[in-house]
Amino acid sequence: MLPRVVPITGIIPENPYTKTFILDDAIPQATPGQFVMLWIPGVDEKPFAIVAREPLTITVAAVGPFSRALHALNIGEKVGWRGPFGHGFDLGGDGETLLIGGGYGVAALYFAASELRKQSRDVTVAMGGRAAQDLLFEERLCALGARVEIATEDGSRGVRGLVTDAAQEALMRAKRILACGPEAMLAAVMRLALAKNIPAQLAVERYMKCGFGICGQCTLSGKLVCMDGPVFTAKELSQLPEFGRVHRDATGAAHFFQGRGARRI
Ligand SMILES: Cc1cc2nc3c(=O)[nH]c(=O)nc-3n(C[C@H](O)[C@H](O)[C@H](O)COP(=O)(O)OP(=O)(O)OC[C@H]3O[C@@H](n4cnc5c(N)ncnc54)[C@H](O)[C@@H]3O)c2cc1C
Repeated sequence: MLPRVVPITGIIPENPYTKTFILDDAIPQATPGQFVMLWIPGVDEKPFAIVAREPLTITVAAVGPFSRALHALNIGEKVGWRGPFGHGFDLGGDGETLLIGGGYGVAALYFAASELRKQSRDVTVAMGGRAAQDLLFEERLCALGARVEIATEDGSRGVRGLVTDAAQEALMRAKRILACGPEAMLAAVMRLALAKNIPAQLAVERYMKCGFGICGQCTLSGKLVCMDGPVFTAKELSQLPEFGRVHRDATGAAHFFQGRGARRI
């Protein structure tokens, strides 16, 4: 699949290290949880969750060479994209949906929240960050009519603690959980969902090169995150021993997750 090369039509600074990019294109067939491979000619190609279909929108944290190169682009400059890829969230079912997000994962959940609210479904979003400045999309989620619960590790907004602390009350009402964020957070959500017997779907990230099952880079205990995921159920993930423990770098070398860092195996 060849990339479509289109100009950037809007850039929204979200926090000191995260920006939303609006592209002069649409991806009408995309569903929440799916991703695109974004290409900057001469730099690289990397996966990013779809935040909105029309216009195609992504939200990117500057963490390395590609994302910093993207942050340096201006409105009118061009990027390429391919997609949508992967399996997204299943949004079916009655009752309240609890979305749990950390970091830029909240932006990816915004797409799911907007689809659910279009059907007037009850949505609570629990979002977390280290400090108030890390939080994203709070106003846009409130504008959709979603209930928003916040936790920060330093207590500068919402409850002091982790996003799972912010989710406690909503967990008593929720009929399903959708989650996107750092893997340690997802592993905690998986344990919580299994303990409370609430069906949960979690969007997992792995280093990816192709996005459609050829390179094998994103293997997770025999599953391909690009094709079998990135959204998996909590039950599926509980049976994948590498989830929450091991990920692979660009060379394919495996590393243990260690807090927020990684140690090579
Ligand atoms: C399906 C999917 C959806 C994604 N959606 C978003 C999104 O919406 N917004 C966003 O900002 N980022 C998203 N990412 C992550 C993004 O693709 C990576 O951070 C990307 O590597 C950035 O490239 P870089 O060259 O800037 O940094 P790199 O140098 O590639 O990476 C910087 C640091 O992040 C680590 N890292 C890289 N990729 C991953 C990964 N997949 N999982 C865990 N750690 C990783 C590296 O080990 C390194 O420590 C997504 C990844 C996947 C697989």
